[in-house]
Amino acid sequence: MLECKVHAALDLRVTDVPAPRPGPGEVLLRLGAAGICGSDMHYYFHGRVGNFVVREPLTPGHEASATVAALGEGVTRVAVGDRVAVNPSAPCGRCPGCREGRENLCTNMRFLGSASVFPHVQGMFRELFVMPESQCVPVRTDVSMQEIAMSEPLSVALHSANRAGPLLGRRVLVTGSGTIGCMMVLAARLAGAAHVAITDVVDAPLAVARGVGADVAVRSDALGGAALADAVGVPDVAFEVSGAPSALISCIETVRRGGIVVQVGTLPAEGMQLPANQIMARELDVRGSFRFGNVFGHAVDAIATRRVDVRPVISPSQPLGEAARAIELARDKTRSMKVHLVPA
Ligand code: ZN
Repeated sequence: MLECKVHAALDLRVTDVPAPRPGPGEVLLRLGAAGICGSDMHYYFHGRVGNFVVREPLTPGHEASATVAALGEGVTRVAVGDRVAVNPSAPCGRCPGCREGRENLCTNMRFLGSASVFPHVQGMFRELFVMPESQCVPVRTDVSMQEIAMSEPLSVALHSANRAGPLLGRRVLVTGSGTIGCMMVLAARLAGAAHVAITDVVDAPLAVARGVGADVAVRSDALGGAALADAVGVPDVAFEVSGAPSALISCIETVRRGGIVVQVGTLPAEGMQLPANQIMARELDVRGSFRFGNVFGHAVDAIATRRVDVRPVISPSQPLGEAARAIELARDKTRSMKVHLVPA
């Protein structure tokens, strides 16, 4: 079976390796579709994501759907042939974060396709892989494998919406209209936001954002400060998704007095200057949002029923054997949104 591994920056190898075997409580999964995320791109292009550095060959990939190919001993929740969404989070269940119900803050988290711990947790850019049954959520409708794989990015947005608190009737700004930005539009709509504006510096993803329900989608670089404020209005809640320091500053400066800013995007590791007095004098709540907690099943259900329709965000899939080229394509926002790797 084919397996993709990043050895260092710009050194990605796809090799033929023996298939793994499931142990007790585990299932053997055949890849359906694996989304290429910003962090996968960072591992490929830079050999690191923020402070997580590749120290041994790493199989990226944490957004995937799969078909159950074989069962280990004692598995009862899934059957051979089931299509599943794979939850990439494996929290310990024992630390203070876990016991508080904030599993994404687990201090012992094992997150698929991540160099956050050593040895690294290998991800799903491979034809066959073994997962604990507990991380597999069956999907029993006829949505596509690519849609099922969107459960992970949708979870990120649902969690961010939860971090903001009630959005019913609120005016929302999202900065960055890539996949997570578009998921954020869908999540804000699902939560009852009255108005959703989104910005980016590229036209193509803004058109997709309109397609998933953004009321206003504008180029932040083409409009000056005042014109931009006119276009997006004064949001109650701003979600910074792009990872650009200037966008976080613009969220802080645009949101209403007493408003909420949620930082979802990963900023450069070197840090940035923050207009901190604005946070003080205008009593802003600036909140972080990291991965997601216990919303994964909710995301899978919303996609399986098409209560949330993620199809406008999905670009043509690419063969696993051409992962490096696919990652290049996924990075080019003028040519793609969410690109999935699929077995040949
Ligand atoms: Zn824990």
